[in-house]
Amino acid sequence: MRAFSYERATSPEGAAQAAAGIEGAKFIAGGTNLLDLMKLEIETPTYLIDVNGLGLDTIEDTADGGLRIGALVRNTDLAAHARVRRDYGVLTRALVAGASGQLRNKATTAGNLLQRTRCPYFYDTNMPCNKRNRGSGCAALEGVSRSLGIIGTSEHCIATHPSDMAVAMRALDAVVETVDAEGTRRSIPLEDFHVLPGETPDVETSLNASEVITAVTLPAPIGGRHVYHKVRDRASYAFALVSVAAVVQPDGTGRVALGGVAPKPWRRKAAEEAMPNGAAAVMARLLEGADPTEHNAYKVTLAERTLGAVLARAQE
Ligand code: SF4
Repeated sequence: MRAFSYERATSPEGAAQAAAGIEGAKFIAGGTNLLDLMKLEIETPTYLIDVNGLGLDTIEDTADGGLRIGALVRNTDLAAHARVRRDYGVLTRALVAGASGQLRNKATTAGNLLQRTRCPYFYDTNMPCNKRNRGSGCAALEGVSRSLGIIGTSEHCIATHPSDMAVAMRALDAVVETVDAEGTRRSIPLEDFHVLPGETPDVETSLNASEVITAVTLPAPIGGRHVYHKVRDRASYAFALVSVAAVVQPDGTGRVALGGVAPKPWRRKAAEEAMPNGAAAVMARLLEGADPTEHNAYKVTLAERTLGAVLARAQE
């Protein structure tokens, strides 16, 4: 691990100001992903700004009946919160499907959104990776791509976003709140928060360099049956090959987002119009334009069958 400077921030604006103008500055909270990446020298921050003291660890009701989740709320606490369990069950189910109990105790809401891909070539510093070093190439394109993306990818990167939590939040129309060094606040729909790789796979979000996430808000609950189904290689502590977050209403309408298939939680509202017609009809629209590799073409079928199982469970 390389040497770095460290300071503890005491306000969100102060954290943003500390990062502004310092190349290589990074925020750290739970550190469950960043510290691993630093040990491997994939991340080499020169300046670490500890945001654990910002007081952003509460969950509050909003005036419109929704929920405001502080950026530093730990995944375990979010999953266990009474209103999340009652009104946003798909989020609790996605959270407890992620990582391990120990990691969920440390990992934060904002950090979960910002975690990096688990593409094996991203972690192998002997291999070319455009996400690690822009312009170096993509080892996955000629390598083993079984776990990687089938849609939203580019000729420069086919990695997936690894979060379960974000897939559920995408189905719930979550909004990310931020503040920058000038004190300017933004509300970014989660739909626009993660960006597709295109020619710059190293750019993963629409955040500015020194912008700090302060909270994630959920709109008022929409009812329905909430299901999160994650297909993975082993029963725990594994990332999704395919996951489905669904909210299904009694009349068969609803919402669907996919994990494990794209560089961001994958949702197309137009596909949801086909929900009363069943999984095949939804998936034909949701995965229209998919470009799988020979190793991961199975995900197209797996996604459809997983959604079929989810819709059947929602109607039980
Ligand atoms: Fe790197 Fe993306 Fe290629 Fe994986 S898929 S090696 S993260 S550029």
